[in-house]
Amino acid sequence: ATPTALMVGTGRGAQLGILIKGPEVLETTRRADTVVLDKTGTITTGRMTLGAVHTAAGTTEADLLRLAGALEHASEHPIAQAVAAGAADRIAGELPAPGSFTNVPGLGVRGTVEGREVLAGRPKLLADAGIDLPPSLSDAMTDAASQGRTAIAVAWDGAARGVLEVADAVKDSSADAVAELRALGLRPILLTGDNQAVADAVARAVGIDEVYAEVMPEDKVDVVRRLQAEGRSVAMVGDGVNDAAALAVADLGLSMGTGTDAAIEAGDLTLVRGDLKVAADAIRLSRRTLSTIR
Ligand code: ADP
Ligand code: MG
Repeated sequence: ATPTALMVGTGRGAQLGILIKGPEVLETTRRADTVVLDKTGTITTGRMTLGAVHTAAGTTEADLLRLAGALEHASEHPIAQAVAAGAADRIAGELPAPGSFTNVPGLGVRGTVEGREVLAGRPKLLADAGIDLPPSLSDAMTDAASQGRTAIAVAWDGAARGVLEVADAVKDSSADAVAELRALGLRPILLTGDNQAVADAVARAVGIDEVYAEVMPEDKVDVVRRLQAEGRSVAMVGDGVNDAAALAVADLGLSMGTGTDAAIEAGDLTLVRGDLKVAADAIRLSRRTLSTIR
C-alpha cells in the first residue's frame, strides 16, 4: 500500500465523518467479514425516557421515584439518566443526594439514599443480594420485555419495591445500515447486556437474526474472541464503557462519536455522528482505497 493512497483514503474518511486512528486501519477494515453491534446507544438512540412505574404492595410511587431517581442521578448510564430525569419531573421536586453510590457494570447501581440501602438494575443485581421479585413485579418485567421495553427492578432495605420501565427508540438509519453491511458481505450480530426479549425485539426491528443477550461487560470480549477463534475477522461497533474491552480486542473497533470517551479511545475508527450507516461507508472506502493501490 502506498502511503499516498492511504493518506487520501484517510482524508476522504474525514469528509465522510470517519476518524481513522492510523492509515493501517484501512487494511483491517477491508478484511472484516463479521460485524458485532452493541444495542443501546449503537443500534438504538440511547436516549431513553421513563415510562410505566409499577410499585410493590406497601410502596408509594413517590418513594420509589425519589429513591431510585436520587441514586440513578449519580450514574451516566442512559437508563439512569432517563430514570433520574423522569423521577425529578414526576415528583416535581429536588431529588435527594445519595450518601454513597456504586456503579455495578452491566447490572445497575447501588447506594444509600435517605439512610436506606437502595439497589436499581437487573433482577440479577437484586438476586445477588438475596432479594427476590414478587410475582406482580416479575410479571411486569416480563410484559415490558416482550414488547421491547427495558425494565429495571428497584429494592431497598432488603425487599423489592418496584419496577421502572424505560423505552429507547431504534435509530432511523439502523435497519438500512444493517442491510448495507449485509450486502457488503458482513455477518451482523447483536451483542447486549440487556435481556433476551428486548434484544430479540430490537434485532427483529433492524433485520438481525443472530443475538447474544444478557452478556456481562467483561464477557463481551469473549464473544468477539470466540468469533475470531472460528476464523472470522471481527468488526465491533459500540459506544459504552462496557464495550471498550471488546472494541480493543476486535480486529477492527468502531466507536460511536456520540459515545463515551472510553469507547472512543479503545476503537480504531470513530463514526463521528454516531450513524451506523457510516460503518458501511467505512468498509466501502477501505475496499476502494486499497483496491486502487493493488
Ligand atoms: P448494553 O450492552 O445494551 O449497552 P449495559 O451492559 O450497559 O447494556 O447494561 C445491561 C443492563 O444492566 C441494562 O439493560 C440494565 O438492565 C442494567 N443496568 C446497567 N446500568 C444500569 C443503571 N445505571 N441503572 C439501572 N439498570 C442498569
Ligand atoms: Mg451501549
